[in-house]
Amino acid sequence: MQNRSVWERACGLTRTVVEGVAFDDEAQAIVVSARPVARARNRCGHCGRRSPGYDGGAGRRRWRALDLGTTKVFIEAPAPRVRCHEHGVTVAAVPWARHDAGHTRDFDDLAAWLAVRTSKSAVMELLRVAWRTVGSIVTRVNADIDATVDRLDGLRRIGIDEISYKRGHRYLIVVVDHDTGRLVWAGPGRNDTALNVFFDELGPERSALLTHVSADMADWIARVVAQRAPNAVRSADPFHVVAWAIEALDIERRRAWNTAKGRRSTRGLARQGRSTGDAQRISHARYALWKNPDDLTGRQRHQLDWIAKTSPRLWRAYLLKEGLRYVFAVKGDEGKQALDRWTSWARRSRMPAFVQLQRRIAAHRDAIDVALDTGLSQGLIESTNTKIRLLTRIAFGFHGYQPLVALAMLALGAHPPRLPGRI
Ligand SMILES: [Zn+2]
Repeated sequence: MQNRSVWERACGLTRTVVEGVAFDDEAQAIVVSARPVARARNRCGHCGRRSPGYDGGAGRRRWRALDLGTTKVFIEAPAPRVRCHEHGVTVAAVPWARHDAGHTRDFDDLAAWLAVRTSKSAVMELLRVAWRTVGSIVTRVNADIDATVDRLDGLRRIGIDEISYKRGHRYLIVVVDHDTGRLVWAGPGRNDTALNVFFDELGPERSALLTHVSADMADWIARVVAQRAPNAVRSADPFHVVAWAIEALDIERRRAWNTAKGRRSTRGLARQGRSTGDAQRISHARYALWKNPDDLTGRQRHQLDWIAKTSPRLWRAYLLKEGLRYVFAVKGDEGKQALDRWTSWARRSRMPAFVQLQRRIAAHRDAIDVALDTGLSQGLIESTNTKIRLLTRIAFGFHGYQPLVALAMLALGAHPPRLPGRI
């Protein structure tokens, strides 16, 4: 008797009767035979409701539990089926594991905790599990949290963005809460339908409480937001606006490179020219032009100095990009005045890419002014995207998008996984 309760404690078992313990030589593991206590028996695996028994199911089965020291542990028990009023014939619930899981609840929780805090190889080597298994585990743990808390409650100011992964073949829509800095929703796709799923889950009452929605200027996002969040002011995402300027700068950079190579224009007939010294230097200065001046290395600073002296037009394009970044750095009324000056500067620049950019900015001026007033989304969406992009890399071995979404929610949401056995 004494021993049994020690084993119950050691394996973190509750509402469970330990029948015996043995060492399985073949599996090189401790096998704890158990059964749920009477009141935990004959319950539906989905809803936990007490249900009439159906049959013995597939007989006894094993659940991987947390290791004891260096030794693997399995809980072994019968897995009968019940007939639930609502869910039909299903495997009965057990107190130590989630439904349809091959691992105990504690094992799941530890794996999820490690998955958001350590590397892929650390999780696999420490727990001795396949990476795909970890994908199923984080999906289960996340679904469990979803069933107990509503992550969409209390939202007022949100940011919406799309990110691509699997080399641009897959897309996720991500929604962040500007007030908590947390990821609150992620789902597959990049169109109206996909974004409408979020607003369906949010529901009309909570959608009406949204005051600010920041997003890039994609028309489909604007359309859905206007329809579904009628009281929200749309705010431009400064990060995206600056990204437009970097695109325009890049067009100028390519033009300068082509000129240096001896072509008359990007569209002119190519006279097969070698990449001469100047063209090469322009090509190498790519990152120096893109980067924020504060992050430049000594060498990159040198490259910019050289461009300032030798390519006045490309240098002006660079200053225009930096001018737009300055607008969002100062924000507020000062930012708006700076943007007015920037606009007329770009209009007179005689660089088609910037003349166009200036028109694009004028078309979205209201949303940009909201961003300057509220200071919304500086960095939050950008940093969330960066983190999700890192997660997509480790989620590569997962099956489908669900484990990726689950991992992202666990890592960046308001309800991180808990260590087993701790409150
Ligand atoms: Zn049920």
